[in-house]
Amino acid sequence: MSTNVPELFGSMVFNQKVMKERLPKETFKALKKTLDDGEPLKIDVANQVAHAMKEWAIEKGATHFTHWFQPLTGITAEKHDSFITPQDDGTVIMSFSGKELVKGEPDASSFPSGGRRATFEARGYTVWDPTAYPFVKEHTLCIPTAFCSYTGEALDKKTPLLRSMEALNKQALRILKLFGNEDATHVATTVGPEQEYFIVDQKLYSQRKDLRMTGRTLFGAKPSKGQEMDDQYFAALNPRIVEYMEDLNDTLWKYGILSKTEHNEVAPAQHEMAPIFTTTNLAADQNQLTMEVMKKVARRHGLVCLLHEKPFAGLNGSGKHNNWSMSTNLGENLLEPGKTPEKNAQFLLFLTAVIKAVDENQDLLRISVASAGNDHRLGANEAPPAIISMYLGDELYAVLESIKDGKPLGEHGAQKMTIGVDVLPPIPKDSTDRNRTSPFAFTGNKFEFRSCGSSLSISGPNTTLDSIVAYTLREFADELEKATDFDAALAELIKREVTKHWKVIFNGNGYDSSWIDEAEKRGLLNLRTLPDAMAHYLDSKNVKLFTEMGVYTDIEMNSHYEIKLEKYAQILNIEVQTMLEMISKDILPAAFKYMDSVSKTAIDLKAVVPGAKASAQSELLSKLDTLVNSLAEKAAKLDKLHEAAQNAGDCMKIARAYVDSVIPAMTEARDVADAIEPLLGEEYKPFPGYEDLLFRV
Ligand code: ADP
Ligand code: MG
Repeated sequence: MSTNVPELFGSMVFNQKVMKERLPKETFKALKKTLDDGEPLKIDVANQVAHAMKEWAIEKGATHFTHWFQPLTGITAEKHDSFITPQDDGTVIMSFSGKELVKGEPDASSFPSGGRRATFEARGYTVWDPTAYPFVKEHTLCIPTAFCSYTGEALDKKTPLLRSMEALNKQALRILKLFGNEDATHVATTVGPEQEYFIVDQKLYSQRKDLRMTGRTLFGAKPSKGQEMDDQYFAALNPRIVEYMEDLNDTLWKYGILSKTEHNEVAPAQHEMAPIFTTTNLAADQNQLTMEVMKKVARRHGLVCLLHEKPFAGLNGSGKHNNWSMSTNLGENLLEPGKTPEKNAQFLLFLTAVIKAVDENQDLLRISVASAGNDHRLGANEAPPAIISMYLGDELYAVLESIKDGKPLGEHGAQKMTIGVDVLPPIPKDSTDRNRTSPFAFTGNKFEFRSCGSSLSISGPNTTLDSIVAYTLREFADELEKATDFDAALAELIKREVTKHWKVIFNGNGYDSSWIDEAEKRGLLNLRTLPDAMAHYLDSKNVKLFTEMGVYTDIEMNSHYEIKLEKYAQILNIEVQTMLEMISKDILPAAFKYMDSVSKTAIDLKAVVPGAKASAQSELLSKLDTLVNSLAEKAAKLDKLHEAAQNAGDCMKIARAYVDSVIPAMTEARDVADAIEPLLGEEYKPFPGYEDLLFRV
């Protein structure tokens, strides 16, 4: 295995090194202009690039190519075409044109597009995103693309992300100019997503319909041992997992993914992989590929990788910490506190922009991480609460407090903090997750948005983050560009905005129930479920923000609204159906069989020993009788409420009905089934339980 990592790394990627080696000098120069300055690619250049790419891909074993894109389903899509072109003499040659590289036309009609297809041309096309490198995956050359409709609407998650990055670039450059920082020509956001996942044995997995159909367990009594011992976190890895992780790393490295950190997580069978951060659109592409590779590699080892946010009740779920910052093309991290007063003033302005953006758009951030799966985590005392607040750490908190109240800073400095004059005290880089309970934590030179779910595409949250910060920076730039005395205006703005948005800053324990009351007093939103959050999506503030930033059109927003709510209802629909089937086909028959066997032993026993009490049998049977009757009733009730939900009206009404009546009925049914499970004899169990799944890898 990984003997020579540098050689292995990126070996399946058509990166700039390969381009430079394989393209004629002039072609490479022309392509570089497209990559660096966004100049359109001429067709003769595209033809030469395509040819070189094809030759390279064939050497790597490719026979097909595909445009690789991220439709609104949240997973990636591909449609493979082979390179073969027939010749007159009955043979074929392998060909690939510039046109095929640059543009594709998948049939868009089967991808979700909300109400848009009714009003607009259904067909869409994909266009190469030359800033993301093509790669060879399993005999196919994958070309990262954006996916649009013929009327120009984005049908994917990548296009809005690129638009939001461009919006932020534009506004951040205006701010830098105000500080006389004119050398940088580009600002991009950067992201390092930490990916959590569970690994279970494939044979056990295949015996559970719920895991196969929904990705999570819909039933399962608590095992005698859970995560209470805290003996799993960072523990030594079991040999099967070690082999899995080695294979995973090798595969990720081949695709040029900077897999860096691996460790066990808090829950049994839970692990994490963190890559080194990169530019946001690449990080998003790579995270999609990472999730796909995680699942495929697991299969090679007889394992299954679960990316669901909450595979097991009673244990921690899985998230994806989205580490985020902004950086210039000269490598200056704009969220790095500087060493000089001027640099610190610039840092404080960007920091203030993030604080204001988060406070004013708590709803959008919550919406960006809303999913049926993630609703199980947020607010369940294992992940950040559904309330969006920010953690700044003691040092930065003290600095901002000093600015806000004009109070002296710390024991040493007798004076208050004057922006642009004083040097900030050292702000430690958080290397230990000091406050894991905060949804949005400053960790020294970046923010960590911790509310994202493990299966989520990070494109959505980052599109929101980039857009809301761009919008705020625009407001700041508009104000400061007009100022006659920049330093005074800057100090005034920072003080004013920090004061105004102080309520969103919370360094305390987000898991504490008192925080919920406190947050409500502060006027922070607590959007507990996806429908609660989505009810705010089309608020005029939000439509104004996204349309003015050029990120979404209102047509796109309307369709996202429908798609998100419909997807939510579809997921719950599958969960309910699976649950009802498991009750009627697995759980009840198993209980009947066991009850039958217990009754028989009692009858047989009495036949042999006329005075036998058989009270253990009769007590057990009576308990089981009560429980199976109750389970059948709960199932009937669930079925009825489910049917009512499906007929509740528009997509919001349906989603609300699921939250308000179906989910509670699912919980009730589950509770009864979970009470039956421990009463059954081992060989009567309908499917492997939590203990098997969690401790038998
Ligand atoms: P920790 O392990 O305490 O969370 P790390 O420094 O290892 O801290 O960061 C975790 C993640 O944050 C990694 O993916 C890392 O690459 C990423 N990261 C570090 N700096 C930045 C940055 N400037 N922008 C975006 N992500 C970053
Ligand atoms: Mg972290």
